[in-house]
Amino acid sequence: MQFEGFAGNAALKTALSAAFSRRRLPHTLLLQGETGLGKRTLAQILARAAVCTCEDRDLAPCGVCPACIRAKAGSHPDIRIVTGSGKSNTISVASVDEVIRDAYKKPEEADINVYCIFAENPMPEITQNKLLKVIEEPPTGALFIFTVLSADALLPTIRSRAQVFTVRPPEESEAAVYVQNKTGMPMEEAEKLASLHRGNIGRMLSDGENGRAAKAEQMAEDIANALVSGTEHDLLAATAPLIKDKPLFPESMERLQLLLRDACLLKNNVNVQVPAREVCDKLRRKLSLKALMALCEMTAKYTEYWRRNANMALLVTALCAEMKETAGK
Ligand SMILES: [Zn+2]
Repeated sequence: MQFEGFAGNAALKTALSAAFSRRRLPHTLLLQGETGLGKRTLAQILARAAVCTCEDRDLAPCGVCPACIRAKAGSHPDIRIVTGSGKSNTISVASVDEVIRDAYKKPEEADINVYCIFAENPMPEITQNKLLKVIEEPPTGALFIFTVLSADALLPTIRSRAQVFTVRPPEESEAAVYVQNKTGMPMEEAEKLASLHRGNIGRMLSDGENGRAAKAEQMAEDIANALVSGTEHDLLAATAPLIKDKPLFPESMERLQLLLRDACLLKNNVNVQVPAREVCDKLRRKLSLKALMALCEMTAKYTEYWRRNANMALLVTALCAEMKETAGK
């Protein structure tokens, strides 16, 4: 089996691969582990492998056969994803009824019906007892993959009929490389996140995203401040981090554009709620409407240059020079 997009867990991968290759995967799997470790990702890899039509099972899910392509797009008719609903965000009895009805039907394309049941939120006993019926005597050609925080949250009767696999965080260094590759953030930042979240990739990614949004916001404000009250040297100093952090550029430009737009509105005496009031007021007072609008366009233009893979040092230097010239007019 191949586990693209699921890091670490070498022993678990070996065990699953071996069972899959020998067609000995249990009909009910419980993937347990804390939030952010990729249990749902793994469940979906297993589901895709189960319907993959590639002959070499070691390569499944191959990613290129029609079944894999449909599965990846979420449109394979024999893979069902069951998630929680309602206030408690738990699997409903109605969903379980549907699974049971469906599981006794013949698969449409593959030779198996796969159910990925995302049950991280505790299921009431009545729901579990219903599920138990189908798990006790599973229809031939049905595969149930549950994701749970802990198998202990399930009734012992369900646990005893399933094979439990524990998902663990990868080594911190591996998690850092994974996140760095996925997001393009500087390695140093990825390593810090890995150590903070002990290799929990899901938490690293969401923390990283929040952190980067805040960073881009700060960058936009620093540029705006340097534009109205600094020299070109100040502007170069403010933008210097962008040279090393290429992915931060477009988001910073987007935030800057919002600030400039808000300043345009204030300049036109439009009564609006402006989130970054102080800096927008400064822009409004110090710059002409024409300059503000030109700067606004400039953010879009430079994002386009960035997209064309420009050299970051040259791009940032040119941006600073052009912005300062426009602001001075
Ligand atoms: Zn395939």
